[in-house]
Amino acid sequence: MARKRTTNLRARRAILDAARRMNALGLNHGTSGNIGFRAGERVLVTPSGRDYETMTPGDIVEMDIAGGHEGPLRPTSEWRLHRDILATRPDVDAVLHSHSIHCTALAVLGLEIPAVHYMVAAAGGTSIRCAPYRTPTTQALSDVAVEALDGRKACLLQNHGAVVIGETPDACVRLLVEVEYLAELYCRTLAVGAAAGREPTVILSRKMAEVLEIMKTYGKQPDSEGSES
Ligand SMILES: [Zn+2]
Repeated sequence: MARKRTTNLRARRAILDAARRMNALGLNHGTSGNIGFRAGERVLVTPSGRDYETMTPGDIVEMDIAGGHEGPLRPTSEWRLHRDILATRPDVDAVLHSHSIHCTALAVLGLEIPAVHYMVAAAGGTSIRCAPYRTPTTQALSDVAVEALDGRKACLLQNHGAVVIGETPDACVRLLVEVEYLAELYCRTLAVGAAAGREPTVILSRKMAEVLEIMKTYGKQPDSEGSES
């Protein structure tokens, strides 16, 4: 019997690699995280409630924009989040949602991450917003996430977790590493500050504007045989 051909194999592998890396780095909790990747007019997403270690590329679910899907596995219950973000953000092709602990801790407090460190600019702005609480899996949650991501590449979801977006699933994991670090940093400075009677200092907006300008070329090497080192 001929085996069914798995389309978009490279993209499926990229999702799987990123999902495993996210968990190996301790940036998620159990099977709660999920990843979406644009595939032309369709979206590839991680399946609902599956362990990434035993998952195969064929288990990644391909969806259409109406929410329809093929195959035996159901897509992540947060598929609306992936569909809607990719539909409204042509500048990115991948979405990652996680319940990483420090992002979620701040989200429980309903706090955004202010510019307590210049790397907040890695998410594209002078803060990382926190979207108001909405019931998980609903269109309402997707709507507030899209709004909180306006002009940005990361946001928190109140009493829930975080969303990061990027060009690839791997880029999303790398950004999540930064965002979770910023969240942990802010959690710690809030705690130590409370004990010491100090408030965390926040970098001025005009100073963050300078960082955002520098970030446009941050970490990028010249394409040609430039001699910069
Ligand atoms: Zn979630």
